[in-house]
Amino acid sequence: MPDPPHEVPSDRVLDRLESRPDGLSSEEARRRREEYGENDIVRGGGRSPLSIFLAQFDSVLIWVLLAAAGLSVWAGQAVDAILITVIVVANGIFGFVQDYRAERSLESLRELAAPTATVRRDGEAIDVDATALVPGDVVVLRGGDVVPADGRLLDATDLEVDEAALTGESVPVSKSSTAVEAGTPLADRTSMVYKGTNVTRGKGVAVVTDTGMETEVGDIARELAATEETRTPLQDELDDLGRTLGVGILVLSALVAPLLLLRGTDAIQAALTAVSLAVAAIPEGLPAVVTLTLALGVRAMSAENALVRRLPAVEALGAVDVVCTDKTGTLTRGQMTVSRLWTNDSVVDVDAEHDEDGTGDAAQVSDREELLLRIGALCNDSTLEDGDPTEQALLEAADRHGLDIDGLRAETPRTGEVPFSSERKWMGTVHDDVGYVKGAPEVVLEHSDRILTDDGPKPLTDDRRDRIKAIVREFGDDALRVLAMASREDPGDADDLADGLTFVGLTGMIDPPREEVADAIAATTRAGIDVKMVTGDNVRTARAIADSLGLGTAVLEGREVGEMDDETLRDRVESIDVFARTSPEHKVRILRALQARDHDVAMTGDGVNDAPALKNADVGVAMGIRGTDVARQASDIVLLDDDYATIERAVERGRAIFDNIWKFVAYLLSANVAEVAIVFLASLYGYLILPAVQLLWINLLTDGLPALALGADPKSGEVMDRPPRDPDRGIIGRQMLGLIGGMGAVTTVALLALMWYTLEGAPAVTTYTMTMVFTGFVFLELVGLYVIRWLRDTPTLSNPWLAVAVAASIVLQLAVLYTPINRYFGTIPLDLADWGLIGVVLAICLPAYVAIGVLVRRLDR
Ligand code: ATP
Repeated sequence: MPDPPHEVPSDRVLDRLESRPDGLSSEEARRRREEYGENDIVRGGGRSPLSIFLAQFDSVLIWVLLAAAGLSVWAGQAVDAILITVIVVANGIFGFVQDYRAERSLESLRELAAPTATVRRDGEAIDVDATALVPGDVVVLRGGDVVPADGRLLDATDLEVDEAALTGESVPVSKSSTAVEAGTPLADRTSMVYKGTNVTRGKGVAVVTDTGMETEVGDIARELAATEETRTPLQDELDDLGRTLGVGILVLSALVAPLLLLRGTDAIQAALTAVSLAVAAIPEGLPAVVTLTLALGVRAMSAENALVRRLPAVEALGAVDVVCTDKTGTLTRGQMTVSRLWTNDSVVDVDAEHDEDGTGDAAQVSDREELLLRIGALCNDSTLEDGDPTEQALLEAADRHGLDIDGLRAETPRTGEVPFSSERKWMGTVHDDVGYVKGAPEVVLEHSDRILTDDGPKPLTDDRRDRIKAIVREFGDDALRVLAMASREDPGDADDLADGLTFVGLTGMIDPPREEVADAIAATTRAGIDVKMVTGDNVRTARAIADSLGLGTAVLEGREVGEMDDETLRDRVESIDVFARTSPEHKVRILRALQARDHDVAMTGDGVNDAPALKNADVGVAMGIRGTDVARQASDIVLLDDDYATIERAVERGRAIFDNIWKFVAYLLSANVAEVAIVFLASLYGYLILPAVQLLWINLLTDGLPALALGADPKSGEVMDRPPRDPDRGIIGRQMLGLIGGMGAVTTVALLALMWYTLEGAPAVTTYTMTMVFTGFVFLELVGLYVIRWLRDTPTLSNPWLAVAVAASIVLQLAVLYTPINRYFGTIPLDLADWGLIGVVLAICLPAYVAIGVLVRRLDR
């Protein structure tokens, strides 16, 4: 075996991989892709359609039923057996369709969330889907990236990688291109980068050594092997419920058989009915329907620019009662324009409106103002086309005033730098004999001891400081984002930029709020959700913007958050609307304080350091455009357009999805309760009222089509007029139990009454009575479905799929009555008078359902 790549000089690794520093040709990459396959971690592999289908019959009860059916063939009742089998298979097909669609949606979800990588192909750096990487590819890594494959470093500047995902070590590791000794353990292989770890800072270039399952994480994934299925709390709750109900239903079903036997029903029929009752009434399909509904919702959300990365987030969204959002780019457009300059001691307006000669160039500026623009252009990592909006605004301003940016940068190359960070809030660059600094005014001011005036630098007296602070406040009150610029003569190196600066001046930029945001905030507030702005920007600017968006204006500064103990923060956190001048660590504390107050918090973030806040939030929301890969990977939801309004829509969707699941559970369980109650109570008198075939048929009609269609119920406007759901209460609350019990009881009483009325004292159930009760049941279910939807404010005719499903159920039911197959179902055609009677039952039950609904709703509030 050749020496492993971490021990070998990087050029030898390149040779071995038959690659070069400028990467592979796309031709070669394509060839290797065929040889090595996708750069993807296969988690136990998806389920095949066949295995999904077979899983539908993976239930003891189904086998008992089929065995009983087999028994009935032997007893000469072959028709029953065939019919039962057909219905069971049809039910299996419905289950299969649900499961298969859910599986598909989850898969496309994974594809959507796939990260990208920057790779050198044909000598050019391009962005590709990370799954397309092959061994030999040369990838470029930057702070905020997730390492896309295992690689040997060719080059590294300041590169640090957080490898906690792989090694458990949470302190970032410094990397370099120098080979390490033979036998170095994984955690110390500084010449390598590994798939799935996070670049926290610096830059690097690496040649890919392994991809996909061959990587170190691939290895771990293989060991864990099993499918890592994300289950949501709701699925767990319904699973539990299914089990509890299952036991109860089994007991009652088991009692039905002897009761029927005692009164002379034949043994086979009694057994079949008992088993069918269990099969029909045990809600084994609940979790699958939940998955399907969640998955459908996820698809709808991604069409609305909210990409869901973890399924439970959909549910959590519906319970969110506080949203903490960034300002820049999320509430505002993130398109900045420098509109005002201040240097000692004059303000000039430089936006387009002050374009005096109409040339498109802004007003003439003084030497000092020109220096301000020069610092803005040189102490700057962006270009006019690409980069940080704040920095681009400075470049545009310089450009508007006739500064030649490229020329300037070529003439005054950078010889040292202090990079910008949200914690530091400033950055500095050295250009041989001069240093430039730009950053948050109070920080720059703190590091300055002089100020540039008409007569050169002068001491920065307290008076002058106060004057500057007053200007900063003024800019802030006008909602301007303020940056300060300073310079320093002869800095030895970048470290000298931290003090002894000469303050040059201030720039003010406008960043208008996004159009839809004020409305979206109003909608979120109406929905009982508290919106808080958490921004790195200064107090005044933040407050001015908050005010213009209709947010409250109680402000707390990051510094104050830092000084408070947890308890004080907990006491105050709810009343604060704007957190200004915050760093990522403040976000985590704000989050914890809110959670300690029992809030469900959605929190946005974009930087590497936001990852802890995103992970710990109930719903972590990352920015798709501005965000780093690391932030995206830590999040539950990615906003493809960075827009606050998208969060609002996602919350609305989340609530609507929960509603749909709620409706489905209420519908299904109230029907099942009625089924069990009717069959059991009738059997007490020895009446066999809903025989096996009819029970299974009801199960097929009600669990099948309408259930599938319910998942597609549209969101109703009203979901955002309600307060958030209490997540601790789950889905089976008092309202749900009241509804299931109440509606189930109404149905039971009504149908037993119908039975007695149509029996007219007959000693055994007649085919006519059976037909009436059977048909009455199907129609009552359909009516009940619409009542339940109405209770959740769903407009009656808003779901065409459901209309089709209901129509199909009715047609199928009529077919069972009026075509020759009625022999096998034990039914006969009904005449007009019979329908009239069923109409009377419906007319009595409908208001009773509604009354129960209204009652339990009141009970719940
Ligand atoms: P938000 O948190 O809402 O996105 P923000 O962009 O102001 O707001 P940060 O990026 O953390 O938050 O920036 C904090 C402060 O640092 C800014 O208010 C500004 O004063 C200063 N700043 C921002 N970008 C730069 C930069 N590129 N160079 C120098 N200083 C900057």
